[in-house]
Amino acid sequence: MENRVAIVGAGVSGLTCGVLFAERGYQTAIFAKETGQQTTSGAAAALCFPYDAGPADAVIAWALATYKTLIGLSSDARTGVSMIDLRQFSRACEIRIPAWAIPLGAHRVSASAVVNAVCAVPKRPHADSYGFKSGFALKVPLMDTTIYLDYLASRFRTAGGSTTANVRFEKPEDVGDAFDLVINCAGMGARELAHDIDLEPHRGQVAIVPKIDNLQCAIVCDDAPLMYAIPRKNDCVFGGTNDVSDNLNPDPVTTKAIVAECSRVLEIEKPRVVRERVGLRPFRKSGVRLEKEKLSDGRSVIHNYGHGGSGFTLSWGCAENVFEIVG
Ligand SMILES: Cc1cc2nc3c(=O)[nH]c(=O)nc-3n(C[C@H](O)[C@H](O)[C@H](O)COP(=O)(O)OP(=O)(O)OC[C@H]3O[C@@H](n4cnc5c(N)ncnc54)[C@H](O)[C@@H]3O)c2cc1C
Repeated sequence: MENRVAIVGAGVSGLTCGVLFAERGYQTAIFAKETGQQTTSGAAAALCFPYDAGPADAVIAWALATYKTLIGLSSDARTGVSMIDLRQFSRACEIRIPAWAIPLGAHRVSASAVVNAVCAVPKRPHADSYGFKSGFALKVPLMDTTIYLDYLASRFRTAGGSTTANVRFEKPEDVGDAFDLVINCAGMGARELAHDIDLEPHRGQVAIVPKIDNLQCAIVCDDAPLMYAIPRKNDCVFGGTNDVSDNLNPDPVTTKAIVAECSRVLEIEKPRVVRERVGLRPFRKSGVRLEKEKLSDGRSVIHNYGHGGSGFTLSWGCAENVFEIVG
C-alpha cells in the first residue's frame, strides 16, 4: 500500500497533486529546490487555455477536467481564480476556433469586436490599426499566480501536508525511505532528475506593469510577435516570448519591445515596468510525461512533467490522472 507520498516540486503541478493526495488521506510531503514565486509557475500569467504542449487528445481531456475544477474555485475570490473574457486574435489569417472550445461558448468576433476587445480603454481607433485580421472570444479561468500558488500551498498545509524547501535531489531514489511512492513534478528539473533529454526549455519573458484602468479582458495574439495583455487583480501582465533557451536573465531590449507592442494594441501610453519575469516552459517533444516507473530500490515513481505552456491548464486533470494510476 503506497500511502506515504513524496512529491518532488512545488510549482503548480506539485502543489495540485499535493492538495489532491493530502485531502484524500495520504501522508504527503513536498520537497523542492524552489517554492512559490521562485518557480516557473510564479512567472506565468496564467490562463486556462492549452498552448505549447502535447499530445493534443490527452491535453484537451486534461484541460477540460481542469477547466471544470477551476470554475468551481472561481466562486471564491480568495483562491485567486476568476473568469475572464479571453479574446484571441490572428494577424495572419482567419483564426480557427478549437473544436473543444465551441461547446464552452467560444464564438468568432468580427472586426468591430476587435475594436471592442480593448473594452473600455479610451481612444479606440480603427480595427485595422491593431493589425489583427480575425479573432474569437471565450470565457476562461484566470489564475492570478501571486494569489493562487499561496492558496494551493495553504490548502495543502491545512490538509496536513508538509513542505521542505531548498532541497535538490539528484535522482528520485534520493527521496528518504520514509516514503513509499515518489511523484515527480520537477518541471524543467526533470531533465536532470529523470535524465530526460526530450525536455526543451521554451523561454518566456513577461513585463509586469501597473493595473490598466478599464481593461477587463485578456488579449492574446499567438502570431509573431507573440503578444498578450492579461489584467490581474493588482497589476497587468504584458507578454511575451517563446524561444528555445535556458537563459533566465531578463533582456531589457525584449522588455521594451513587449511593452511597445502591448501599448500599441491597447492604445495607451507605455506604462512603467514594475517587474520583469523569465520562466522556462517545460516543453517535452514527445508530449507530457504522465506514467509510472519502477525505481532501482523497488519503489515507484509517477512522472508528471513536461506541460510546456500549459502547466496551469492541465494541473487538475493531470493530478487526477496521477491519483488514478496510484489507485
Ligand atoms: C511567461 C510564461 C507564461 C505562461 N503562461 C501560462 C498560462 O497562461 N497558462 C498555463 O497553463 N501555463 C502557462 N505557462 C506555463 C506554466 O508556467 C508551466 O507549464 C508550469 O509552471 C509548470 O509547472 P510545474 O509545476 O510542472 O513546474 P515548475 O513550476 O517549474 O516547478 C518545478 C518544481 O520542481 C522543483 N525541482 C526541479 N528539479 C528539482 C530537483 N532535482 N530536486 C528538487 N526539486 C526540484 C523546482 O524547484 C520547482 O519547485 C507559462 C509559462 C511562462 C514561462
